Amino acid sequence: VTDRAVEALTRLVRDVPDFPEPGVLFKDITPLLADAAGFSAVVEGLAAAGRDASGATRVDKVLGMEARGFILAAPVALSLGVGFVPVRKAGKLPHDTHSVAYALEYGEAVLELHQDAVAPGERVLVVDDVLATGGTARATHDLVTACGATTASFAFLMELGFLDGRAALGDVPSTALLTV
Ligand code: AMP
Repeated sequence: VTDRAVEALTRLVRDVPDFPEPGVLFKDITPLLADAAGFSAVVEGLAAAGRDASGATRVDKVLGMEARGFILAAPVALSLGVGFVPVRKAGKLPHDTHSVAYALEYGEAVLELHQDAVAPGERVLVVDDVLATGGTARATHDLVTACGATTASFAFLMELGFLDGRAALGDVPSTALLTV
């Protein structure tokens, strides 16, 4: 599974220089999503982070962050046989939310989670496409904590190693299918 996922990531993720601003090398996963075998391989690679050594599911929910996290986390949740929970940008979720503000390079962003989306004591897997500075993942972990739940693991397609996003994740386990 891992070999096929790494092969798909290497072949099907497109590097776009200077997007959305000069100096950023954007990892465009749309060619990967359009390839059924590649998409399937990376979903199974991510889902492995939610299984124990015997292959049993060890999480209660899979969380994905708007917007590319949704695309990956939903099929991971189905593969693991658990529910999917969206983490959204400010003002999008209709019911009572927990809210966390975090710093971006310029300004700040806010992520929200429905207060009743994750129950106290539950263990969740958090899925996103790219770990960069770790701000998004850290904010999601803080939302999980606000619900009284535990982040069992993070799973990313790619980790931008030079940004050391892992440092922002504290001691929560994190896996990336590919480190670049
Ligand atoms: P960060 O909070 O800095 O870890 O950034 C992570 C979020 O921004 C993820 O949701 C990614 O989708 C997105 N992101 C950051 N850097 C890149 C990049 N170079 N290519 C694609 N997406 C990125």
